[in-house]
Amino acid sequence: MTLRAAAAVLAGALTLSGCSSSGAGGSTDGLDVVAAFYPFQFVAEQVGGDLVQVTNLTQPGSEPHDLELTAQQTASLGQADLVLYQTGFQAAVDDAVAQSAPKASIDVASIVPLADPVESVDLGEDDAGDDDEHFAKDPHEWLDPRNMITITNAVRDELSELDAEHAEQYRANADTLVERLTRLDADFAALGECQQKTFVTTHAAFGYLATRYGLNQIGISGLSPDEEPSPARIARVQQLARDNGVTTIFYETLVSDKVASSIAGDLGLATDVLDPLEGITDQSRGDDYIEVMESNLAALRTANRCG
Ligand SMILES: [Zn+2]
Repeated sequence: MTLRAAAAVLAGALTLSGCSSSGAGGSTDGLDVVAAFYPFQFVAEQVGGDLVQVTNLTQPGSEPHDLELTAQQTASLGQADLVLYQTGFQAAVDDAVAQSAPKASIDVASIVPLADPVESVDLGEDDAGDDDEHFAKDPHEWLDPRNMITITNAVRDELSELDAEHAEQYRANADTLVERLTRLDADFAALGECQQKTFVTTHAAFGYLATRYGLNQIGISGLSPDEEPSPARIARVQQLARDNGVTTIFYETLVSDKVASSIAGDLGLATDVLDPLEGITDQSRGDDYIEVMESNLAALRTANRCG
């Protein structure tokens, strides 16, 4: 920490304008940003550009619910210039941030208004399923592009404060991302024309998206993807799918498609991917948040017979 600080001061003294220092190697160049999971990594990379190194605590190919941290990852938080996370979603990260006191942090739960969970599969009082992960609030706010704009602006402000010399660059990068997110939001607004409003998906990650664009989500599992749906819940999902003329059962890239495929098979329906962007891999339908969201939009338009 002391060495890094000294190196940063030295680099600052030697570099009178513009570019980040080079030479001394790795971690002394630019700001170290740690993101708790993919959408925050995306924002940090877009806004920080070459001026930051971004580390994602959630490994590619795993989903961020129930994340466990290694000792090394916990230690890395204490070294970070900025940590992006969301309290109430990943308990291990909440604990590690509290213990390790990073230089700066953004708790997205404090800048984006989180919604109460909406349960779209009503099973009556006795069989509510045994959800092992109870959320006070629905954590999946990043699936509303307008919330991503809020996060983008917060990251711009924080990076500009930590590295005032490059504030103009952070602002320009953030403006570019906000433009892309604004276009994405406008594209999604076309979902208002869909004949059919209901969609069925693997875990109930799309509540914010559904609320924003006037759709109705039915989650085969609740807010957590590792929750095993009860037979009663599966039967209820099938009933709702039939009643609402659903054409497609959606599954995800990072969790098993077994239950989704079996429901689709029973009902003779199609399956397709609706990606909650909890991580990105080679299997993702797109290289980044915006591209995968555009793929989600295309899938919803087809499934819900949109104009
Ligand atoms: Zn989720």
